[in-house]
Amino acid sequence: GLDTVTSKIVVVGLGVTGLSVARFLSGLGFDFVIADSREQPSGKGQLQKELGNITVVSGAFDSELFNNASHLVVSPGVPLTEKAITEAISKDVQIIGDIDLFACSMDEPVVAITGSNGKSTVTTMLGEMASAAGKKVGVGGNLGVPALDLLEQQAELYVLELSSFQLERTSQLNATAATVLNVTADHLDRHVDLADYAEQKQRVFMGDGFMVINADDPIVVAMQETGRNTLTFSIQAIADFWIGKENGIECLMHGNNPLMPLSELPLEGRHNAANALAALALGTTVGLDEQAMCKALKGFKGLAHRMQRVAEICGVVWVNDSKATNIGACVAALQGYEEKVILIAGGDSKGADMADLIPAVKEKAKAVVLMGKDAGQIEKAINGCVPVHTVLNMQQAVSIAASLAQAGDSVLLSPACASLDQYKNYQDRGDQFTKAVLDLVSLNRACR
Ligand code: ADP
Repeated sequence: GLDTVTSKIVVVGLGVTGLSVARFLSGLGFDFVIADSREQPSGKGQLQKELGNITVVSGAFDSELFNNASHLVVSPGVPLTEKAITEAISKDVQIIGDIDLFACSMDEPVVAITGSNGKSTVTTMLGEMASAAGKKVGVGGNLGVPALDLLEQQAELYVLELSSFQLERTSQLNATAATVLNVTADHLDRHVDLADYAEQKQRVFMGDGFMVINADDPIVVAMQETGRNTLTFSIQAIADFWIGKENGIECLMHGNNPLMPLSELPLEGRHNAANALAALALGTTVGLDEQAMCKALKGFKGLAHRMQRVAEICGVVWVNDSKATNIGACVAALQGYEEKVILIAGGDSKGADMADLIPAVKEKAKAVVLMGKDAGQIEKAINGCVPVHTVLNMQQAVSIAASLAQAGDSVLLSPACASLDQYKNYQDRGDQFTKAVLDLVSLNRACR
């Protein structure tokens, strides 16, 4: 562990996570310095406002500083492959993450959620289930409030969304229950390959807590360990939590017990049924009441930028799924449609093979509007099997989509790519989409 007298701690990265680490260490009276390779780290102003004079070393990482540290607390945004970090590792400097500090600082139950897609949805669902069951719950991590900042809430249960980058630098977590929701290609620009990415996700299961396993995902099934408490969920077969029929009505099931009709889950798409089953399984491991959990599911509003209906204009439904930053999410979105849609996609593919997108596009898209850095790569993969229109920005994308759409069609923004080549983040991309759609109305150009 850390020692206030002998530890020489360097916090690496001064963004949202670095700031939470700085608050935490200051609160405990530790001395530390912060290093950030940017000249103007995003969290610097806030740091100075809250904590006053803490040394921030900005610009290229300083090997001497790192090599002489006892611990580097590395933010998820900083690759562990940075030269100064690999060098420090070789000199036996301890690498830890904010989740390690969190895990060592509390005794309450923790539920840890990772996966390629559905993390935020399941984390939020489970948080609402816990509240409905009367628990004081802290919800955050990779989404919303950083884990260490949650400690101030003195909750009786913590629900954490964790990314592969957070898990990669975590070794002290022993979650009461954990899940890997699914593994599909993502972040291959920063992970060596899919196997490495899956291995980092598997770290969520470290310790001896409950494992919640997606029986429909072979990569997750392979993570199962004998001798561990396990619950499974599936939308395809019988599992601990699954979809069965009760008097001809599809229901979310726990074993032989129907919990609620699937039709009362107010979210589109089979993938959201899987998310609900995962949340039910996780909630069960920490003793949440089943009725309370179902009540929360029935009232769940969904999250912005995930299959969010923006408007219906002249019979055309416009849907914002800007959070679909990888192929798996876009494929899940397309599969949710019975009819063909006009798909707006593109951005930064993060090294993924866009060929994996093509079967779903062929089956569910009548036209594709592309933009962003890897538009050309996607167009090449589509190879003429669906009409493609390439545009420069969201306004053009929406305008072309409007000219293609007829009453009864849906226009779906589900980019299958990260947004950072053209937008501040996925929220900014989704907001620009929404604005462009609403502008159609005011410009009177919504209908053909
Ligand atoms: P994450 O936090 O893992 O990014 P979100 O809940 O924010 O997950 O959803 C991200 C994207 O993935 C959205 O486009 C959403 O529609 C889609 N999605 C949500 N759950 C699943 C799932 N279980 N499988 C595939 N795609 C999903």
